[in-house]
Amino acid sequence: MRVLGIEGTAWAASAALFDTEAEDDSIFIDSDPYQPESGGIHPREAAEHMADAVPAVVDSVLSHAVETSDAGSPEIDAVAFSRGPGLGPCLRIVGTAARSLAQTLDVPLVGVNHMVAHLEIGRYQSGFDSPVCLNASGANAHLLGYHNGRYRVLGETMDTGVGNSIDKFTRHVGWSHPGGPKVEQAAKDGEYVDLPYVVKGMDFSFSGIMSAAKQAYDDGEDVADICCGLQETIFGMLTEVAERALSLTGTDELVLGGGVGQNERLREMLAAMCEERGAEFYAPDPRFLRDNAGMIAVLGAKMYEAGDTLPISESSIDPNYRPDQVPVTWRGDDES
Ligand code: ATP
Repeated sequence: MRVLGIEGTAWAASAALFDTEAEDDSIFIDSDPYQPESGGIHPREAAEHMADAVPAVVDSVLSHAVETSDAGSPEIDAVAFSRGPGLGPCLRIVGTAARSLAQTLDVPLVGVNHMVAHLEIGRYQSGFDSPVCLNASGANAHLLGYHNGRYRVLGETMDTGVGNSIDKFTRHVGWSHPGGPKVEQAAKDGEYVDLPYVVKGMDFSFSGIMSAAKQAYDDGEDVADICCGLQETIFGMLTEVAERALSLTGTDELVLGGGVGQNERLREMLAAMCEERGAEFYAPDPRFLRDNAGMIAVLGAKMYEAGDTLPISESSIDPNYRPDQVPVTWRGDDES
């Protein structure tokens, strides 16, 4: 079975072909990131980028599909797309592209929840059975665990996404987008400074930390020291809640998802926590952590196999699509 996936929730226009029969299990990805000239992601500019970039990446994947087919045609069984959550103007471009392609190829359409795809790519690659997932991305931060046919939100941010809050601090300092990698680099030369640590039960908040970090910068504190304090505080909070999620669910498997998961210090903290409690930890390759169509095609294939496809008339996008809104049709085990 071959599924073509399209991703474009915010900044990454990406298309992928997932072939369940391919011997190397390989996923072909083509992506073209949107880079704001100044400030953060501007929804209209990001959508204009998608309008240019999505046809180009879909075209390259279709050519790849033809080249790897004996029939001389793409041999696509279904088209999967990111239905949400994300920026409405970007999602509409992706939705339109996916609908047109599915109709042109005369194949079913599959609407994928982007955050569930972050979890499923980790579960698929690790071979874990029923992991807890920490999704640490630009616009989101939450812990997911499977129970009774759905991925439940065990804990989440009470305000901004984790990457977006880091990016807000770096904008204040005058660094270009995205800020996360720059904070990671700067923190290597920094010494820890104290910042507010806010965990309430299973939820966490980043807005107070960001205000305190900006204030510390305005007060003349060394920026590398603030970056170090930011990483230790924010990632400490995520690690604490991830550990509590493992403990409460009784699960001994943790997977990481989302672009912030590319950060070595976060991975190190999660790996150490898992090792101490005898749990297994899996972090996908960076290209499968940041927004990518590979994860959309992989989950799209599972959903297609389960018959979970969308009529065109019901395929509207949802910028606020929560992971716990998705009936998990593809696992076939609803006892846990
Ligand atoms: P979402 O999945 O919520 O739609 P998104 O579209 O913003 O997220 P992602 O690719 O998941 O995109 O994540 C982008 C975020 O990851 C940005 O906020 C960026 O600063 C952050 N990021 C990237 N690399 C690193 C890093 N090494 N350390 C920390 N943060 C990072």
